[in-house]
Order: sequence, then C-alpha cells, then structure tokens
Amino acid sequence: MAEIRFNARGEQFELGQVAWTRQLYGALASGSYIRQKYGQSPVIEKTPYQVKIRHASQDWTCRTCGQKIDEGDMHGSTFYDHYCLDCVTRSKPETEVEFLKPEVAPIKLYRTTKGFEEDAALRADLETKQGYKLYAVFDIPEEAQEVAKQLAGQDIKFVKHISTPETGEHQTWEIYAKPIPQADLYWYSISELKQMCRQRGLSTEGSKEQLITRLKRA
Ligand SMILES: [Zn+2]
Repeated sequence: MAEIRFNARGEQFELGQVAWTRQLYGALASGSYIRQKYGQSPVIEKTPYQVKIRHASQDWTCRTCGQKIDEGDMHGSTFYDHYCLDCVTRSKPETEVEFLKPEVAPIKLYRTTKGFEEDAALRADLETKQGYKLYAVFDIPEEAQEVAKQLAGQDIKFVKHISTPETGEHQTWEIYAKPIPQADLYWYSISELKQMCRQRGLSTEGSKEQLITRLKRA
C-alpha cells in the first residue's frame, strides 16, 4: 500500500509522486523562441518548481511558508529546497509572464567636435548638405539620450561638443534630427504620431487622420 497524506486543502499526495510548488518563481527568459512565444524578449517567466513527494531526511523549513517540516514527514522537495504539503499542489500552476519595458539602445555618438570652428563646420554639413536640423542642445548626456529616444522613428544624429578654450572643457550634447516629410506621416503608427504630437505640445486626441492634419499644420 502506498503511503498517502492529505494537505489542509484536502489534496492527496502519495509517496514518490510528482507535484508542483504553489508559489511561482521568476526567471529571465530570452531568445528567438521567447520572442516567437510572447512577441518580446527578454521576459520574466514565472513558473512553479517541480517537486517529488518524499520523506524528510532531516528537519527542514518550508521555503514558502517557513513552517517546520519534521524529519520523516512527507513533503515536496527539489533535493535543494523543501516545501510543506500545504505549499505544493498536484495540478501544475499556470506560467505567468511579466513583460519588461523594452530596452531602447542608447543612440550612437555620430561625432565629437572640439571648439567653435569644428562645430560650425559640422552643423553646416548636417544642415545644408545632409538635411538635418539642430533640434536641441543639452548639458547632460542622459537628458539628450532621453529626448533622442522620444523622437520616434526619426533620423537622428547625436553629437558631443567640447567648447574650448573659451569655457574651459565644457561639454554639450547636440541632437540633430531630419524633419519628417509630411507625405511620409502616413507611414507612422498611431502611437508614433501621438508621440510626435506630444513632443510638439499638440493634443494627442483623435484619429490617425486628425493627428496627421494637426502635425501638418504645426
Ligand atoms: Zn509551506
């Protein structure tokens, strides 16, 4: 006869049987399989641990609830961790997924300029030859990165400028952006259009058509 125990919820456990922790444990999962499965990678997958119902080889403490498990008691164990019968279950709990905020790669530095002349030459090249416009200048690189990230879908160049010797070694961070040709606004998603409206201090309400009309007038 198999040895049988019941937990507080009336679940029946047999010695040697496989069970699961009721508690889920999170682990970072990434790769193409995860991207295919969830549309994003990495994610935190929270899964139960598989345990086996055994006799305790010594006194243990339940990893989930902290209750003492006496030597010889039937309990669930992974060998390394021990769980009282109240903290394990026969039916495998569903995996839960926590979606992480997608990481935005920092924008690569296009060039570092030193002194007024170099900066003016670069600006002339970017603005007159390449079609960029100086969008904003910052003292703190993180702020510049933050703003650059918000220019969703736009072509951006990130420039570090060291002004010497007039102001010592003062550094500034310049963002050049290519203005979006108006006809191309239709290519953007509604959330990107909303972001553009937000950056220009415009209302983000309304349909795609209305957002485009508003951006064109601005
Ligand atoms: Zn427990």
